[in-house]
Amino acid sequence: MRKEDITENLNRVRGRIAASCSACGRDPGDVILLAVSKTRPGADLRSAYDAGQRHFGENYLQEALEKQAELDDLDITWHFIGPLQSNKTRAVAEHFHWMHSVDRLKIAQRLSAQRPPDMPPLNLCLQVNIDGEESKSGVAPAEVAALAEAVAGLANVRLRGLMAIPAPRESEEEQRQPFEALTALLEELRERLPDQPLDTLSMGMSGDMEAAIASGATMVRIGTDIFGRRD
Ligand SMILES: *Cc1c(COP(=O)(O)O)cnc(C)c1O
Repeated sequence: MRKEDITENLNRVRGRIAASCSACGRDPGDVILLAVSKTRPGADLRSAYDAGQRHFGENYLQEALEKQAELDDLDITWHFIGPLQSNKTRAVAEHFHWMHSVDRLKIAQRLSAQRPPDMPPLNLCLQVNIDGEESKSGVAPAEVAALAEAVAGLANVRLRGLMAIPAPRESEEEQRQPFEALTALLEELRERLPDQPLDTLSMGMSGDMEAAIASGATMVRIGTDIFGRRD
């Protein structure tokens, strides 16, 4: 994609974040924009970086590792946001700053054990299947607390919060319901685990970002509206 288009798209998304925040009285500085760059070439990430973007989210491990090598000269914060098999945890532990899609203890245990000792703890979010959809990954809402307590005890990871991909709704008002449910779950966790740095609600994509911000999102994951439609 052309660099000018990526810059313009990024500025438009930033404007939407600012407008959503001002509509609900939030500080736009409290919402981190994560550029979801799966399937995009390294040159597109570099264009976004040149336009000031620093947080990038990737779904596919091999593809991500290749782009990380190519963009080694940039000061990028890398987020892994896709499903992960437990035999692939080592590369995430060694090459990422954040992992958003932890949905079982085994994954978190391996990430903690495999995090290199000279790196800061890996930031984790638990992915919640907030609508209880058969086809979606994520821990069931009723099981979040037990998983969070177990993850909080691991040495080399930091439990930062929750992530969800709710099913699309008809209106923005309806779309807020699953996001508000995730916000409420994080509130419960904060009471249960007061010593943990639980400051992150990773929710909102190109199609539902406004509803997510109105419901308390602190990190929105935007792909299409920055880099265009994926094939
Ligand atoms: C692809 C993806 C996104 C971005 O979706 P868009 O609709 O392109 O903004 C966000 N989060 C996750 C987990 C994704 O896989």
